[in-house]
Amino acid sequence: MATIFDKIIAREIPADIVHEDENVLAFRDINPQAPVHVLFIPKRPVATLNDLAPGDEVVVGRLVTAAAAYAKAEGFADSGYRVVINCNGDGGQSVYHIHLHLLAGRAMAWPPG
Ligand code: 5GP
Repeated sequence: MATIFDKIIAREIPADIVHEDENVLAFRDINPQAPVHVLFIPKRPVATLNDLAPGDEVVVGRLVTAAAAYAKAEGFADSGYRVVINCNGDGGQSVYHIHLHLLAGRAMAWPPG
């Protein structure tokens, strides 16, 4: 099932893209929850963490490494940042195309809401 993120990948709707490579696209969240809030998504759509198959470790690994590289390049390596992947309803997932949230630029609270 196509999602809004497929349309962003296809450039059918605009997004503030901050990183792109062969496998990963990253763009600013339309409703930021921190001074820096970027979504890292695989270009290959996978709906949720539950839909990862054996061999898909690299799908999530690429999101994490791209987010860490971006956070480091933006100067947040030492101050810190948070990465989050929501899964299904109780996890707070609203777009069913796996995405990693990178939140930075303020101190995060724990536990999250
Ligand atoms: P989820 O709740 O699924 O973990 O996160 C989905 C995120 O996508 C939300 O933080 C929401 O603000 C963001 N989002 C939803 N639609 C759009 C859109 O059209 N453009 C952008 N840039 N972000 C979106």
